[in-house]
Amino acid sequence: MIIVMKKGFDENQLRKVLERIVELGANPFPVSGREQTTISVVGPTHEIEERAFLGFEGIEKVVRVSKPYKLAARLAQAQPTQIKVGECDIGDGSFLVMAGPCSVESEEQTLRIAHAVKKAGATMLRGGAFKPRSSPYSFQGMGAEGLKILKQAKEETGLPIVSEVMDIQQLELALDVVDMLQIGARNMQNFALLKELGKVNKPILLKRGMSATVEEWLMSAEYIMAGGNSQVLLCERGIRSFDNQFARNSLDLNVVPILRELTHLPVVVDPSHGTGYRHLVSPMALAGMAAGADALIVEVHDRPSEALSDGPQALLPTDLDQLMLKLSQMGDILGKRVQTSQTAKQNSEGAKQNKVA
Ligand code: PEP
Ligand code: MN
Repeated sequence: MIIVMKKGFDENQLRKVLERIVELGANPFPVSGREQTTISVVGPTHEIEERAFLGFEGIEKVVRVSKPYKLAARLAQAQPTQIKVGECDIGDGSFLVMAGPCSVESEEQTLRIAHAVKKAGATMLRGGAFKPRSSPYSFQGMGAEGLKILKQAKEETGLPIVSEVMDIQQLELALDVVDMLQIGARNMQNFALLKELGKVNKPILLKRGMSATVEEWLMSAEYIMAGGNSQVLLCERGIRSFDNQFARNSLDLNVVPILRELTHLPVVVDPSHGTGYRHLVSPMALAGMAAGADALIVEVHDRPSEALSDGPQALLPTDLDQLMLKLSQMGDILGKRVQTSQTAKQNSEGAKQNKVA
């Protein structure tokens, strides 16, 4: 159930509505936007009738939401959710690229690649310290040591960090270093972890499970939001289909415009895991932007044949240079500004100067 407040309602009217919702045994989540304030009512709303709010001043309408996700629903919030990570803005209508190695493998490797992706124009650094591997015999990530290296890369480049956690213990370790927590495809429905993420004050990059429906994916976002963390980004990373002969997964770009209709949350595309092969990554990255994504997350390695994970799908730094150029040209056509490490900096300096003036 969503309650839309009238324009010009006052705080007292809002307070009375919130109190009424609690009296009725549900939880209110008010969202104040520029245009409109809405209250998402979650809990046993099937037991609450619309007329329970008759006579309350300041209410424009009470709308029943038939979808199982409420807080993530487009109806719950008129404006798209904008997420700030360091100096980067995601969901504000511009576009950005997060890039870096699949895994943190050593200090030298991570710093080399971090500098290369910054030079290419990426505005966030990705890199896994904790790796979900199909085989227990494969490289499992550097763990806490890897986090220290990411911290150093952030200090050296200024790039905010996105990195995966797979359990609550790792989450606690990562909170100090990581600016955006990645929840991988394999943990999209790790409900205990999702509940913990609800208590965290950091953006969550929630990857789509490899066979998850859009509704299951949005329900996982709902778990995090219901816990109190509304900073969720949805990342399409390819789904399993019947044919993996030429691509590791099928990058489902249908979901980009679909999610735009269903939710106010930002949408990110991962063409690296979505395809599995270097030569497919840039075309599908451009397609992701054309479909309307807010950002890309791309794997880059300067020595892919030596990579400890996902080498075949890693772009070379020069490939990323080219891709950034093409994205910027396509951005001109689409009317989307591509943030780069340089412009992101200039913009925030410009904004600071405006504030001072
Ligand atoms: C990764 O980002 O390296 C990763 C393991 O992603 P996914 O969960 O999408 O497979
Ligand atoms: Mn990977």
